Amino acid sequence: MNYKNFPMVPRVIFGRGSFNQLNEIIAPKRLSMDAPFIYLVDDVFKSNSWLTSRILLSYDDRIIYISTEEEPKTTQVDNLVEDIILSTKERPSGIIGIGGGSMLDIAKAVAIMLTNEGETKSYQGWDLVKNPGLYHVGIPTLSGTGAEVSRTTVLTGPEKKLGINSDYTPFDQVLLDPELTRSVPREQWFYTGMDCFIHSVESLQGTYLNAFSKSYGEMAFDLCKEVFLNDTDLSKEEAEDKLMMASWHGGMSIVYSQVGIAHAMSYGLSYVLGIKHGIGNCIVFDQLEEFYPKGVALFKAMKKKQGIQLPKGVCTDLNEEQMDAMIDMALRLEPLWENALGKNWRRKISSKQLKQLYLKM
Ligand code: NAD
Ligand code: ZN
Repeated sequence: MNYKNFPMVPRVIFGRGSFNQLNEIIAPKRLSMDAPFIYLVDDVFKSNSWLTSRILLSYDDRIIYISTEEEPKTTQVDNLVEDIILSTKERPSGIIGIGGGSMLDIAKAVAIMLTNEGETKSYQGWDLVKNPGLYHVGIPTLSGTGAEVSRTTVLTGPEKKLGINSDYTPFDQVLLDPELTRSVPREQWFYTGMDCFIHSVESLQGTYLNAFSKSYGEMAFDLCKEVFLNDTDLSKEEAEDKLMMASWHGGMSIVYSQVGIAHAMSYGLSYVLGIKHGIGNCIVFDQLEEFYPKGVALFKAMKKKQGIQLPKGVCTDLNEEQMDAMIDMALRLEPLWENALGKNWRRKISSKQLKQLYLKM
């Protein structure tokens, strides 16, 4: 057995209001007056001075606001990198990503592509990155994806949706301030929170499970139950704190295992229909009773408790070609299927079954 040696986020600060410490944390990392810090910030915060007024810009530091209406693309990363190279005198001191999973992934990818040649799409895969990325900091404002702790940055390229998985992908510093999530719209809070719940179920029910991923997975699972079934009457603040830690544990759990069927099929939905990760996972997971009976029953209970209605019939208007592309995209994610169904997974699932499932969504 050859065990993987995973990198972890070396520094993390947690606490309500810890965002106020950002400036003092990054100051020692400034390389020179001409090497700015570049803040990549979700444009939902453009008019939110409560957050942005606390960013202290010095010298040539700059905030770039980015729309996350669509999920991150490899070409978007290429354009950002070019813009940053053309507008800075020296290579930046660091990249600071502030937002949900989309923004965190963009920040990780930009930090890597500023020190690695060529186009972003050529790094989609496992361990293709040659040089360490720039110093990069992740500040989540939405809890659930685990992107703040993971070893990947998920990008849609011209040929596939696949992450840049590498030892240089994880952040050098993460700042967890649950207060930053207080403005998240309710439905988004549920969808991205369920991403975390699904990470925990897929990890705990997977064949790759071991004591390391189990311990983190169980923690994420229990925290999600507390937050979304809320039988203990948590305050809004307590729920924000707990969901931020659930996201972290869910991410840690899949570091040493893998996700499963909901993620594989949701990548298909996203690739063909542009359906975003959180809601896409919910739409798929809702139909996966036969694979994850206990997890799906709990999911349905949480959905009911929170009064969330999922869209229906998302695949009914697809033509055959689109349906095939979606199934191909899903089946291409071999490790996810192997984790879910074991080494003989090809004998346990067929394109026909996938089509039937997609048509139920
Ligand atoms: P997101 O980042 O796409 O954001 C969803 C919406 O919430 C956006 O409209 C955004 O503007 C808004 N938002 C974020 N924070 C807010 C706040 N505090 N107040 C108000 N609005 C806010 O959503 P997400 O679910 O966090 O991320 C999804 C992305 O993460 C996908 O691209 C997915 O592929 C990726 N992902 C990555 C990993 C990883 O390990 N790298 C894991 C899972 C998912
Ligand atoms: Zn996910």
